[in-house]
Amino acid sequence: MPSPRTTLAIFWALPWSAIGLAIGVLGLASGGRMQRRGRTLEFYGGAVAPLLRSMPAGAGAIAMTWGHVILGQSAAALDAARQHELVHVRQYERWGPLFGPAYLLCSAVTWVRGGDAYRDNPFEREAYGS
Ligand SMILES: [Zn+2]
Repeated sequence: MPSPRTTLAIFWALPWSAIGLAIGVLGLASGGRMQRRGRTLEFYGGAVAPLLRSMPAGAGAIAMTWGHVILGQSAAALDAARQHELVHVRQYERWGPLFGPAYLLCSAVTWVRGGDAYRDNPFEREAYGS
């Protein structure tokens, strides 16, 4: 059984996890795979891969976190990105329903100030450890 604190964190991030779960189920229905790692569910392959490749950041994302759901292009991509994505999981646990708006606001402010909306976003800087 997870601790009460973990259970609360899972519920707090649930609106975002639900979106990730919906995308993950589409991935499963199209030949993708799922694995559980600690308190996260990871989905990779199937329709998840082309979806991530089409993300605007750089040449597409190799992985992306929605609450307690981590989407990856492949199992290897998840292995490479896991530490970064787990920082985002903790951010979702801290911010809950406010995470999406807070992340987008930070990207907008960063971009208006002439920075890179992705790399200079404080949430990404924390995840990249810079
Ligand atoms: Zn990130």
